[in-house]
Amino acid sequence: NSKASVTVIGLGPMGQAMARAFLDAGHAVTVWNRTAARADELVARGAQLAPSAEAAVAANELVVLSLTDYDAVFAVLESVERVVAGKVIANLSSDTPERAREAARWLAERGAGHLTGGVQVPPSGIGSPESSTFYSGPVELFQRHRAALEVLTGADYRGDDPGLAQLYYQIQMDLFWTSMVGYLHATAIAEANGISAEEFLPYLSSTAASLPGFQAFYAPRIAAGNHAGDVDRLTMALAGIEHVRHTAEASGVDGALPAVLAEAFRRGVEAGNGAASLTSLVGQFRRA
Ligand code: NDP
Repeated sequence: NSKASVTVIGLGPMGQAMARAFLDAGHAVTVWNRTAARADELVARGAQLAPSAEAAVAANELVVLSLTDYDAVFAVLESVERVVAGKVIANLSSDTPERAREAARWLAERGAGHLTGGVQVPPSGIGSPESSTFYSGPVELFQRHRAALEVLTGADYRGDDPGLAQLYYQIQMDLFWTSMVGYLHATAIAEANGISAEEFLPYLSSTAASLPGFQAFYAPRIAAGNHAGDVDRLTMALAGIEHVRHTAEASGVDGALPAVLAEAFRRGVEAGNGAASLTSLVGQFRRA
């Protein structure tokens, strides 16, 4: 077998999908999980279950971590401290950029490498090259293990700073959560008025499809600090979001979400940006 053997620690839905993908691609895989029974199916498929986290790390140079968060990461790392020197920890657990930097420092002090990964797909997307994971950390470590990591998803290397992969991940998640909640809120108003989620779907889709055009128009202006109100004005946005709030409330739907937006718009107007674009909120958010 010419393919590098790998270790996967953390067998939640994500770690299991990762270990399966490595096995399917012909890699020898050593696994460990705090709750050993979660390895049963993988062992049946040919994975080696290590008797301890330490044994799992000792087994291979490349160690993939898929743990709930970095509290779990540090719990595992501290238990393997004696054997980490020379290892490359591809940490695909989610947390903040600062925690990723902390883990990278901790490992560097012990002679080990850290690659941060921010996985952008659910477990069902693991094993597809169209899926994408942000990576950051020392470029030579990334290049050395790129082929193995690409068994899991496509790899988007963002740079040397170990925080970058989590930063990109969290920025994307900011957009994801707020967009999904916007979708659910709009659907609640639709359903409260007898329009089913499915009936609403084509309208939702066409509005969602218009967003990239707006973003492509505004991005260079935001980058240039140009928030001119020649296309849209914050006063108009404030009136608009209040209409949404009133429509929600008249439908028996909680108006708290549009009220948060209205509050942000109002602060902008009060700060003198009423005649500027909605994009002036970027500066307002940064000051907050
Ligand atoms: P889970 O929380 O279901 O699984 C996490 C694993 O962490 C389990 O194996 C669990 O062990 C282990 N664990 C938790 N705490 C500790 C600890 N203190 N010591 C040792 N092991 C611990 O997460 P997922 O599998 O869903 O996801 C893994 C990572 O991938 C997360 O960081 C998540 O944010 C990220 N991710 C997940 C996505 C998804 O859709 N699931 C999408 C994108 C990223 P045990 O079995 O013993 O409880």
